[in-house]
Amino acid sequence: MTDRSVTSSAALFERARAVTPGGVNSPVRAFSAVGGTPRFIRSARGAWLTDVDGNEYVDLICSWGPMLLGHAHPQVQAAIAEAVSRGTSYGTPTEPEVLLAEEIVSRTPVDKVRFVSSGTEATMSAIRLARGFTGRDLVIKFAGCYHGHVDTLLASAGSGLATLAVPGTPGVSASTAAETIVLPFNDREAVAAAFAEHGPRIACLITEATPGNMGVVPPGPGFNRFLAQTCRDHGALFISDEVMTGFRATREGGWGLDGAVEGWTPDLMTFGKVMGGGFPAAAFGGRADVMAHLAPEGPVYQAGTLSGNPIATTAGLATLRLATPEVYAALAATAETIKSAVADALTAVGVPHVVQAAGTMFSVFFRDGAVTDFAGASGQDTAAYAAFFHAMLDAGVYLPPSAFEAWFVSAAHDDRALSAILDALPGAAKAAAAIGTGTA
Ligand SMILES: *Cc1c(COP(=O)(O)O)cnc(C)c1O
Repeated sequence: MTDRSVTSSAALFERARAVTPGGVNSPVRAFSAVGGTPRFIRSARGAWLTDVDGNEYVDLICSWGPMLLGHAHPQVQAAIAEAVSRGTSYGTPTEPEVLLAEEIVSRTPVDKVRFVSSGTEATMSAIRLARGFTGRDLVIKFAGCYHGHVDTLLASAGSGLATLAVPGTPGVSASTAAETIVLPFNDREAVAAAFAEHGPRIACLITEATPGNMGVVPPGPGFNRFLAQTCRDHGALFISDEVMTGFRATREGGWGLDGAVEGWTPDLMTFGKVMGGGFPAAAFGGRADVMAHLAPEGPVYQAGTLSGNPIATTAGLATLRLATPEVYAALAATAETIKSAVADALTAVGVPHVVQAAGTMFSVFFRDGAVTDFAGASGQDTAAYAAFFHAMLDAGVYLPPSAFEAWFVSAAHDDRALSAILDALPGAAKAAAAIGTGTA
């Protein structure tokens, strides 16, 4: 058990670094982009985190999206406790899997879903299925979109548009990367050129419904519809990765912002984060005829010991059932309050910035002008963000420790949490102004 009298984040980080690379189990947690010591969190309730040092923070990460209702929601906790009392994993089909699948099918255009344990597994499996269904190998993705640490998707653009990619990290083989084409987001001409050059070999195009992993960069009007249509014209599958946006951007996810309005559907979709209710659960799903290619119905193999785990699916189901239209309206209002307060605070001291949003998800870029792709996102003043981040943290507000991440609110962000954020902003804006080099 933790002994609070002798434990601190600094001491734990030192011990962690001795036994874990970088002291963390996912790189962004290490604070590398902003400097300083990551806080080790001991507990969380509603909109608040408490670290092992005894400090409280308003949480604007929400576990990178999942905690839509806030931490330790009483009804979700009760559902989890009840499920745990009946055992934690059986390796058999269970009822909560069916109920959660029905909930997902009712909110999105997918006909069928298969559960996995992480978003990475969801996109990896969706790509395997797309390749198995089409009998083709090439995959198109966009620079700045993150789809988990799948080898095929950790690729960087090659020497020109429509050329095959190179490894995005050591450890991805050149031949694997060469099965991927990496294009600039929001660039229709680049997409058309890639299909013109490689069309008959392209299995699928994968995109974040609204990119949130380079900061929030909404697709231009009709861009996703154009992608869906271009894929269809060339016999490729359109995969919309909604691991972040799913059940978060809107009740219907990112698709609720365009596809639901414009009347198109992705061939495959991936989900994670919110649908796991804070547990490792994710899913991929889509057209019945495509999903029918998956084992045991079809020939494309995919499996998982803990897939559809009864505790994880119970937590996800409880979360989604409590995420009513009223909850999304409240989240949108909370996001609006924070977005305008941040913009006001930064404007007041002349820090260049632009706030971009997709439904209830948003982020702040520390540069002027709309950001439409990864090159634009990269032009931020990251030093100004680091100063802003640390001033907010010192004032008790926990922002993402990187300028390239979305900010997440929860239904538990009440007036007390909002006041804490609003009170912290002017000082943090001044800290950013003091270090700011202007638009980089
Ligand atoms: C988080 C994320 C993933 C990866 O999910 P993990 O559960 O971290 O493996 C994939 N795609 C998108 C869009 C994400 O935001």
